[in-house]
Amino acid sequence: MHTINHYINGGHTAPSQRTQAFYEPATGEQRGSVSLASAADVAGAIEIAKKAHESWSKVTPLNRSRVLFKFKALVEANMDEMAELITREHGKVLDDAKGEIIRGLEVVEFACGIPHLLKGEHTEQVGGGVDAWTLNQSLGVVAGIAPFNFPVMVPMWMFPIAIACGNSFIMKPSEKDPSSVMRMAELLTEAGLPDGVFNVVNGDKEAVDTLLTHKDVHAVSFVGSTPIAEYIYATASAHGKRVQALGGAKNHMVLMPDADLDQAVGALMGAAYGSAGERCMAISVVLAVGDSGDALVEKLLPQIKALKVGNGVTPEMDMGPLISTQHLEKVTSYVETGLNEGAKLLADGRALTVADHEQGYFLGGCLFDHVTPEMTIYKEEIFGPVLAIVRVKDYAEALQLINDHEFGNGTAIFTQSGEAARHFCHHVQVGMVGVNVPIPVPMAFHSFGGWKRSLFGPLHMHGPDGVRFYTKRKAITARWPQPSKQAKAEFVMPTMK
Ligand code: NAD
Repeated sequence: MHTINHYINGGHTAPSQRTQAFYEPATGEQRGSVSLASAADVAGAIEIAKKAHESWSKVTPLNRSRVLFKFKALVEANMDEMAELITREHGKVLDDAKGEIIRGLEVVEFACGIPHLLKGEHTEQVGGGVDAWTLNQSLGVVAGIAPFNFPVMVPMWMFPIAIACGNSFIMKPSEKDPSSVMRMAELLTEAGLPDGVFNVVNGDKEAVDTLLTHKDVHAVSFVGSTPIAEYIYATASAHGKRVQALGGAKNHMVLMPDADLDQAVGALMGAAYGSAGERCMAISVVLAVGDSGDALVEKLLPQIKALKVGNGVTPEMDMGPLISTQHLEKVTSYVETGLNEGAKLLADGRALTVADHEQGYFLGGCLFDHVTPEMTIYKEEIFGPVLAIVRVKDYAEALQLINDHEFGNGTAIFTQSGEAARHFCHHVQVGMVGVNVPIPVPMAFHSFGGWKRSLFGPLHMHGPDGVRFYTKRKAITARWPQPSKQAKAEFVMPTMK
């Protein structure tokens, strides 16, 4: 059994007083226990990070990026081991775990370009003998708080850019699958990152609240559920910090009658059931436009029934278990709610058992048809392998439903009409939009973020917004007068003539 403590100042720490068990979802067995940091533990880590920032911020951007180049090579060399850590603790299948690591590494690759990304602006002669330029400087100690569903990728959305910009970082991973972040901390040290620049504190609300309120933490990046995202945004903002807090989702796919149905169904299967639906960009609602619903069901249903569900380390599986027994109960109760509210359950994954894994948190693929916008299973994020079909009469009704929904993370339209696709891109009230692409996650050199109650704060994650979030801009206006040309006092607004 693993015991996971904290990683502070370049090494593992002793356990905290409080600990919590974490499990292997495929077997239901306890895998280890994780220390839950006290306020004093977190304050100690912040103090160390603050000290480390003094020297790290003076390291040249080129040398900071060289550490990240080495880190990338080390993660690649340890890819199999890290993917297995993810699969054992999260449950997703091994290839999906590797995909998550690769998508995270793309942010590291982006951050390796920091010498270019940090360049400021310069204008010569903004006034007579006066030049102006800007600097992008680090903030100091910044913190990241991550969800369980991408234990490697989401932290990598945050810390590579933050440390490349010269900040020091405190990561608070999910207490449900903490091991892979600890491995990344070790690899950062091996790559030559000075002690104290990247620290991990494990924990729960006590650790998070200390990060949100401590005077020496200057920015907080959060990814998780909407109620907590809102709390993080309100609390950290009230304590004078920059905040980007990404929340939950209910991502709709619009299926137009002219779409290539085979292509749409293939895309939908992966987008709805990949990672057992535990993705913030998973498609959980299909809006079947016009008469597209019956043909969709006919093609979709056999594929859902053929899903290979099992232990994520077993080759050839499509889907692993859910994260915890509590989450399994929650998702199952949504299935019951859907039935009680009158939706038609065409595929029921509740009866699924996986041989030799009777204690695992497995749920087979579920499909509801004739879901209506008033139903709970339409309104709320389920975060499991449960797909809802809503039948709508036309494109306008589909667009209206998406725009009226409280979440606005991702969406997609499947169509062969350029006109419909263009209209959709321009008018849909969602942050990330796919055209014949089911999960439109922006690449690392763009920025990731939803709208409405899927994101609190003005800046998205990684890409150009990531650099803006982790730096403060300084504008300098300079004159070097000749001794003979000392200006007289001026009492009116200088207009730089
Ligand atoms: P969660 O909100 O329960 O937990 C996220 C983090 O917040 C964890 O580190 C947890 O320890 C901490 N936390 C939980 N309760 C807290 C509290 N009361 N006070 C302070 N901190 C607290 O989320 P989760 O279950 O780990 O992750 C799933 C959620 O994350 C889903 O809603 C999913 O949509 C969302 N998510 C969103 C994105 C996105 O990009 N928008 C990406 C991934 C996941």
